[in-house]
Amino acid sequence: MDQTKIGKFIASQRKEHGLTQSQLAERLGITDKAVSKWETGKSLPDLSLFTPLCSLLDVTLNELLLGEVIPDECLKEKSNQVLFDVISGMLGNDKGHIPYTANNETVLQLENVKKIYEEADAKTIAINGISFEVAKGSFVGIMGASGSGKSTLLNMIATIDKPSGGTIKIDGQDVSGLTEEKLADFRRRHLGFIFQEYNLLDTLTIYENIALALTIKEAPKKEIQATVKKLAAALNITDILQKFPYEVSGGQRQRCACARAIVANPSLILADEPTGALDSHSAKQLLETLVMFRQDYHATILMVTHDAFSASYCDRIFFLKDGEIKTYLDRGVKNKQNFFADILDVMAKIAEDSCYVS
Ligand code: ADP
Repeated sequence: MDQTKIGKFIASQRKEHGLTQSQLAERLGITDKAVSKWETGKSLPDLSLFTPLCSLLDVTLNELLLGEVIPDECLKEKSNQVLFDVISGMLGNDKGHIPYTANNETVLQLENVKKIYEEADAKTIAINGISFEVAKGSFVGIMGASGSGKSTLLNMIATIDKPSGGTIKIDGQDVSGLTEEKLADFRRRHLGFIFQEYNLLDTLTIYENIALALTIKEAPKKEIQATVKKLAAALNITDILQKFPYEVSGGQRQRCACARAIVANPSLILADEPTGALDSHSAKQLLETLVMFRQDYHATILMVTHDAFSASYCDRIFFLKDGEIKTYLDRGVKNKQNFFADILDVMAKIAEDSCYVS
């Protein structure tokens, strides 16, 4: 993929549409500097911006990625080749993907969940009757644009916030009925968390951060040592175990956060935009770690993201808009490239059609 060519193409199309860099940046909700970096070939747009950028510049995704207008006569042939080359390059080889096989055991069950925020003069229906299930050992994504209700939904599943209606069951237990004290204990026993901001404790070493959940459970010291050692080796962070979070890179901190989330073998790992603060290499490593968790540790993961690249690692994706699940996609035996293309397709349809339902 020729980054400089793509940059020049973005610049020429932008000018053709009479837009300044600032105007384009404003419409995409990003900084002028980001647009300038694309146009000089220093960086590529974030994958989540491809669809809105194409629509603003009135070009197809293939044309954007190729960096030139594709003439009608070779549209099909060239488009397929471009899409394949570009996405293969970005997503890498995933020969090792083991398709998720249906498991009858349900870890998470939502039934007609609602969240209404009532203020003095306004009422916002943030979540409007959502029902779905997450089976044990699956990696499930929740996708949606800003304001679609992702954080609200995740906070309720994380038991940090209570629904206005409906039920949320984790391991068969209805969490809405638990007291605050019982909830804290429930979270420790059943849930693991990975946030965008890592949330590691700066006064503890990486080892101590990972071991914390087991220490709280009063696990034997030898068992803690063996578990942390094994996980650290799997995540390639053995060398930094004695360092403090502020002494290691963002990618390493996030892998430490992953180790901490899984160390106590929770029923459900909740990941909130876990790649949001990472560069693309670290993001890829993190997502591969989550896939490894589900394959090797039979972990069940629910990840909230607005990014199609991150979502392409999931087994199933629910698409959220205006507080409702509009549709879902199963990866099945598809490779990441094809799944990614399907995700972009659904995102474009949902963005286009406010009434889109599968
Ligand atoms: P997302 O995480 O997808 O960006 P949110 O869950 O933050 O979406 O928000 C969904 C909707 O609920 C938005 O319209 C938002 O303005 C509204 N909302 C979220 N939190 C509150 C709150 N505490 N009080 C009132 N409205 C809220």
